[in-house]
Amino acid sequence: MAYKTFSVVMAARKSGLPVEDCGLRQLHINCPFCGDRKRRLYLYTDTNQYHCFNCRAHGNAVDLYARRTGLSYADAYHELLGDSLIHFPKPATELPPEREPAPLSQRDMVYRAMLELLPLSAAHWDNLLSRGLTDSAIRQNGYRTLAFGKELRDYIAAQLSSRFDLNGIPGFFYAQGTWRMCAYSGLLLPVRAADGRVQGIQIRRDEAVHMKYAWMSSTGKPYGTGARSWVHVAGDRSRKEAVITEGPIKGDVSSALTGGGLFVCLPGVNAISFLPDTLRALGVRRVWEAFDMDKRNNAQVADAAARLQAELKKTGIPCRTMAWDPACKGIDDYLAMKRSA
Ligand SMILES: [Zn+2]
Repeated sequence: MAYKTFSVVMAARKSGLPVEDCGLRQLHINCPFCGDRKRRLYLYTDTNQYHCFNCRAHGNAVDLYARRTGLSYADAYHELLGDSLIHFPKPATELPPEREPAPLSQRDMVYRAMLELLPLSAAHWDNLLSRGLTDSAIRQNGYRTLAFGKELRDYIAAQLSSRFDLNGIPGFFYAQGTWRMCAYSGLLLPVRAADGRVQGIQIRRDEAVHMKYAWMSSTGKPYGTGARSWVHVAGDRSRKEAVITEGPIKGDVSSALTGGGLFVCLPGVNAISFLPDTLRALGVRRVWEAFDMDKRNNAQVADAAARLQAELKKTGIPCRTMAWDPACKGIDDYLAMKRSA
């Protein structure tokens, strides 16, 4: 008999975890294995794997069920198999297929046109100034404000779909005969490739407590597209030494505070898959790791820093760790303090 794959959502639910299936490709729940309360355990409904971004517990549906119940893998498999005959029917309707991201040139064109349709609110402008950016840097970097409301999103989708093909553009999807847009409201941060083109959009959500930063993404939507872990490049791209930080805005601010220093910004300390190619495209000869100073006592960040070093070793680009006054958490905080001192 062929080996059967089980739904990771069903297995989680059967093991007693409260999971609401809202038809998304990823579900985020609190991790029962490490006691995390920030919903860092991800259930992937497409691959039926789970992964905790706090304790790194991961595996398939059977692993999850075995670990939760204390059963052996084989026993867990058979228990799920017995259940699957009755309780695990295939969904009657499948979601239309998700798109792979469109090429960079297409994403750049659409996103730049989208940004042109939007304003930058006075509150966001002031906030960016207070972090150390100049008016001209704010203008150049292309930040925008996306307010709440479906009407605004429908307007943007209508404008853009009349001019561009929106297939493969994260944040757009096709339903009921028309292109639509889904994105959190907040401050839109263009995530730029090594050549300055806009590869994706991160959103700093104004009122969020968890997940303060999110990608513009239409994953889980009909004909939608998920974002990838694109890396943002800020500053003078001709420099041969780069500083690696987490978060696009931290890099933009740090670059402004250092008169154009080259900063390469990961979307998360663990999201390094696009880093080697980005560094190669820039042709840098030396890099500095400048993760937040809590790397000293935050095991997760320390872990991520170690993995970054290991990954960079493979590229042959020497990497050193940057340290500063630990009273300042981020490199941008430190640079701002130094400037005002
Ligand atoms: Zn965990």
